[in-house]
Amino acid sequence: MKSPDFLIVGWGLAGVNMAWQLYFNNHSFVVYDSTKNYSTNTAAGIVNPIVFKRLTKSWQADKLMPYAENFYKKVEMALKDNIITPKHIFKIFNSFEDENNWMVKQSDDRFNAYLLPTNTNFEIYGINAPYGYGEVKTFGNLDTVKFLKKSKLFFLEKGHKFINHSFDYNVSRIDINIIFCEGYDIVNNPFFNYLPLKPTHGDTLIIKTKALKFKDIINKNMFIMHIKDDLYKIGATYNWSLKTPVCTKEGKNELIDKLNQFANFEYSVVSQQAGIRPTVKDRRPLLGTHPENKRLHVFNGLGTKGVMIAPYYSEKLLKHIVNKEEIDKEINITRYEKYL
Ligand SMILES: Cc1cc2nc3c(=O)[nH]c(=O)nc-3n(C[C@H](O)[C@H](O)[C@H](O)COP(=O)(O)OP(=O)(O)OC[C@H]3O[C@@H](n4cnc5c(N)ncnc54)[C@H](O)[C@@H]3O)c2cc1C
Repeated sequence: MKSPDFLIVGWGLAGVNMAWQLYFNNHSFVVYDSTKNYSTNTAAGIVNPIVFKRLTKSWQADKLMPYAENFYKKVEMALKDNIITPKHIFKIFNSFEDENNWMVKQSDDRFNAYLLPTNTNFEIYGINAPYGYGEVKTFGNLDTVKFLKKSKLFFLEKGHKFINHSFDYNVSRIDINIIFCEGYDIVNNPFFNYLPLKPTHGDTLIIKTKALKFKDIINKNMFIMHIKDDLYKIGATYNWSLKTPVCTKEGKNELIDKLNQFANFEYSVVSQQAGIRPTVKDRRPLLGTHPENKRLHVFNGLGTKGVMIAPYYSEKLLKHIVNKEEIDKEINITRYEKYL
């Protein structure tokens, strides 16, 4: 049997994005997945080009947003199915000052692709927002679970193989390009565990309510996002000490407390989920080739914004492997070679 061009280790957002880039460029691949899925199965799939804390643009938003939008459209066409649901994000203002800052930024050409003008008459039934809302324009929300499932079926049908267990690092010979897309599990990878990945645990809840009819995303130090029927996902917490994706009571209580501060509607908690975000201390992705073994590559560090970052940077990594194109210093793993 002819060996594939690539091995992908890990089937989360990083792995599935790599697989599509390989597919679009006519490369064959085999996927290894231990299906622990630390992060992607819990992710809300929100694409937010704005950092609300400072009301600035998210890192490289102008470049990453249009690329991601086109990429997911191309995937939808191949799958003949939707993985993106159009949604905007409605940020609840905490004060008149918040509203003023929004209006100033909104009138700035650099921001008006994302920030919409404020509308003082706008209200969301069941939400206490005396200072109103700022609306963020974004291309939508990725159904991360569906993206993984549908893509796997698609690639199986095209003849790509999936091996449902952990990759064995003790292989005697490496004569094929291997792309490690292991999320937080990279800490167990003997080739790349020198990279400073810091786990960020996050809890989310699914709540049920008949009162809230809102189909977009509400944000106030947390998000409320409609899923289907009367179900909404709320999240997320940030815990930098937990290293396993277990649901925590503290996380649940924190989310309920935050929600009760601005929600005036009845709801019940249906379920809880937890995941581990693969975050890096300098908050930049980790891309590149092992300094000693040129067949081994890594795509990781997608952090809190994997949906927006993964499409563009999976292409960058592929071009680096195949065409020897340079990777920016800011994201290249060479920046951590001193830890090797
Ligand atoms: C609560 C929460 C909410 C989030 N919300 C958002 C959001 O709204 N928007 C956004 O953009 N991002 C969000 N994120 C972040 C997003 O989930 C991550 O950026 C992204 O999913 C990381 O993907 P990954 O493929 O690197 O890791 P993972 O999803 O962890 O996938 C890694 C996979 O590799 C497998 N694996 C590991 N080692 C091996 C091995 N040796 N052999 C075989 N398989 C292996 C694992 O089993 C796993 O399936 C959220 C994360 C959390 C936890």
